Amino acid sequence: MSARTTAEPQESTGLGRDRVSDRVRCLVVMGTRPEAIKMLPVVQALKKSRLLMPFVVNTGQHEHMVLPILEAAGITPDVNLRIGRQANTINGLVRDCVGAFDGLLDDLRGGAERRMRPRLFGAAEHPGSPYPALTLVHGDTTSAMAAGLASIGCKLPVVHVEAGLRTRDILSPFPEELNRQLISRMAAFHLAPTPANQANLVREGVDPQRIFVTGNTGIDALHWAAGLHAPWGDPRLEVLNDPSLPVVVVTAHRRENLGEPIRRIAEAVRTIAEMRPRAVVVWPVHPNPRVGADVHEILDGVPNVILTEPIDYIPFARLLQRATVAISDSGGVQEEAPSVGTPVLVAREESERPEGVEAGSLILVGSDPEKIRSIALGLIDDPGARIAMTSITNPFGDGRASERVRAALEHLVFDTPAPERYGVSFNRSRVLEASGYDPEEIAITSSMIAATHPEARGSGGASANKLAALRR
Ligand code: UDP
Repeated sequence: MSARTTAEPQESTGLGRDRVSDRVRCLVVMGTRPEAIKMLPVVQALKKSRLLMPFVVNTGQHEHMVLPILEAAGITPDVNLRIGRQANTINGLVRDCVGAFDGLLDDLRGGAERRMRPRLFGAAEHPGSPYPALTLVHGDTTSAMAAGLASIGCKLPVVHVEAGLRTRDILSPFPEELNRQLISRMAAFHLAPTPANQANLVREGVDPQRIFVTGNTGIDALHWAAGLHAPWGDPRLEVLNDPSLPVVVVTAHRRENLGEPIRRIAEAVRTIAEMRPRAVVVWPVHPNPRVGADVHEILDGVPNVILTEPIDYIPFARLLQRATVAISDSGGVQEEAPSVGTPVLVAREESERPEGVEAGSLILVGSDPEKIRSIALGLIDDPGARIAMTSITNPFGDGRASERVRAALEHLVFDTPAPERYGVSFNRSRVLEASGYDPEEIAITSSMIAATHPEARGSGGASANKLAALRR
């Protein structure tokens, strides 16, 4: 099956053999909303490269959510594979995605004889060739896994953006954890957001020299989006322009929270809204009908709760920045909110982002209504407690991840100078725990040190104390 029949070229960047540019193409695969958000800054960075250029492959799953985001960033996908509309099963998606991607690679790389050797340098040695040097896939979606599989099937190296997140239970979240692990087996090069993600990969036997820690590209995207100061797009949200009102943002959609857990989260939100009538709660309700039915049943009619459709990413970034506190089970929100100064109550039993829990910008609350209520009220009422949670350096990134990705790929293909390493080289708490201290003692001792050695401020001591108090 050829991509000509399955894929739709979006502009004349050339699926054919016509000479397009001397820059070397990197395929950038996306299809779901989180992929588009987190790949967007990578595409922007590659567009600025003198050596490389992005070739954006939209798999087509969440088109209505993906295209407006890309449009706002000035990105037009080069091709749309138009998959995922009928294929509602995981197997159907794998089948369709491998088939469509294979057709695309046929067009880009030529027939079977050309598929059998790596082409990373082929592209660099033959400027103007439509051959891509590599395929960039993101995270943990089934389409990313299938695109990786199709790429490796014709020796096109796979580069994994947001590599190394783990729960280690392939059934939770399913199929995301399985997809992540499978992509890690396929990837030639792993771009890990944090040192902890790198450690996960090393533990699984990945060569540390094939991993580069970059920070999460989602933070780059959020800074860009929040900075646009987009209109809210819903007149009910104009109330947020009053800076004196506390704002609580809630999102929930994970499979493991459907049913009773979401009902408990909604009950907790109702109590918070009733106990703090000046607070405004904004809950963009996920399109899954099972989420909507429960949330509306419990929260309809509560005057200071605004239930909306999912909000476009760019105003959503502004909303996260405006929020006093977020309650969410979303992976992306856990990383993004702290980077714009908003603490997050994570409505999950476990998180594949323990760095944020350890650093203190996230608190795991599961769906325990009492915990959600008391911690959220504590944060709404006490600016000091909020500052304690968010003054910590965001462990997920500094907003420059995609520049590191670009530099790393240029180094890979053209042997330009290697980019500098990102991130701290060790975790103080881990060393202290290995020395026999428990986390509570570390928090208390750190706050004593902060009090007796003001010159060492910034060490997080005061924050640690506040956090320990909040959690009790
Ligand atoms: N998001 C959005 N509008 C909303 C809710 C979330 O644009 O109404 C964004 C959010 O900023 C984050 C991404 O969507 O970047 C998270 O997607 P989701 O929660 O679906 O997936 P997860 O992060 O859990 O994989």
